[in-house]
Amino acid sequence: MTRSLLIRHAELLVTLDDADRRWSDGGLYIEDRQIVQLGPSATLPASADEVIEARGLILLPGLVNTHHHFFQTLTRNVPAAQNASLFQWLRTLYPIWANLTPEAIRVSTQTALVELMLSGCTTTSDHTYLWPNGARLDDQIEAAQTIGVRFHAARGAMSLGESRGGLPPDRLVEDEAAMLRDARRLIEQYHDPSRFAMLRIVLAPCSPFSVSPALMRESIALARAYGVHAHTHLAETRDEAAYCQAAFGRTPVELAEELGWIGPDVWHAHMVHPSGDEIIRLGRTRTGVAHCPTSNMRLASGIAPLRALQQAGARVGLGVDGSASNDSSHLLAEARQALLLQRVGGDPAALTAPEALRLATRGGAATLGRDDIGYLAPGMAADVIGYRLESLPLAGGAVHDPLAALVFCQPPNVNLSVINGRVRVRNGEPVDIDLPRLIARHNAIARALLRGERPTSSFGG
Ligand code: ZN
Repeated sequence: MTRSLLIRHAELLVTLDDADRRWSDGGLYIEDRQIVQLGPSATLPASADEVIEARGLILLPGLVNTHHHFFQTLTRNVPAAQNASLFQWLRTLYPIWANLTPEAIRVSTQTALVELMLSGCTTTSDHTYLWPNGARLDDQIEAAQTIGVRFHAARGAMSLGESRGGLPPDRLVEDEAAMLRDARRLIEQYHDPSRFAMLRIVLAPCSPFSVSPALMRESIALARAYGVHAHTHLAETRDEAAYCQAAFGRTPVELAEELGWIGPDVWHAHMVHPSGDEIIRLGRTRTGVAHCPTSNMRLASGIAPLRALQQAGARVGLGVDGSASNDSSHLLAEARQALLLQRVGGDPAALTAPEALRLATRGGAATLGRDDIGYLAPGMAADVIGYRLESLPLAGGAVHDPLAALVFCQPPNVNLSVINGRVRVRNGEPVDIDLPRLIARHNAIARALLRGERPTSSFGG
């Protein structure tokens, strides 16, 4: 039976569609998982199974996060990694992550997803690349389903340990054949290619310095055989460029090209250091990029050439990146960071607030390869968020320009989030989630990990 949801009387409805349509006193009429009608409240059906009065809210399409490592919420702000470059940071954290358990994966997934959801995110990818102590992607998928955020689960992997010239300790790397078997199983068991899919699988070896070229080649071949997308880290730091030059005689982008890792079904996290020619080739091939400004600043990686990548034709979205290199999963705050970081180069109009929000919505949808999310229109997925305009962070700012206030002022949390037609945040509170209990379990596991212990399941199931 069809279930209908009417959201009406929003102070401002912003669609971010091609015509950039906006309505005061706007609303949407939703049936099941999709938007049926939107516009001025007076033009919408008068009733529905559920009616939400959105007075005082600005409504937008849900935000899309293209890069994260949920497990790192357990190791935010670790003192020994606070002031480290990427490679030092990894060497500090690998031994701590080696004690992750299936429960740690589940709890950190829920924590990151609730934090993302409250910031306005309705679709996210995650890239977990180490699976110690019996942890599996299945643990993460199961946990994500309890939160209800649209999920592109990237099956990460590392196979090149220290003894073979890689960066991670040998005990954290996987056998390549076993990893590929597991990837195939996960695609067959979980991947949903259909419109409005809540779960897609992505193949995602960690980076050129933690897997072999053979695994990169076999992963992309497997992804293409099944029509799933592929993701990895690329061109993040100058250290990585030096490593690729020494190990392969190639820049990171040249290496990716040689391995088949470019195209409309691939997206790379970071892409801070491509050359001018490489930007042209990335654009021509419609390769995707997850821009992660906070992480790039935190680890002193540099400023990604965002505008040049977009102008060349690359698909570019925003990523909060893992919580140990950002320490926050606030996607709206990331849009603000993107705007600010691009301006550091000297151009005060390098990125505008509407452009930053488009990056966080339509850019992310394109990067993940989706045409059913990213803007509001009939036939699109019912992923809608609302921020309260009459609030302290936006006071004096939203009265002039409510949309830009979301980026220029202190980024607020949502008051309302509807994902796939289901209300997941109501009056600023996550629905059906015991947040204090989740945080308590999360912190207990984080403390155990920092003590160098493997957390036991006595923290609860
Ligand atoms: Zn990352």
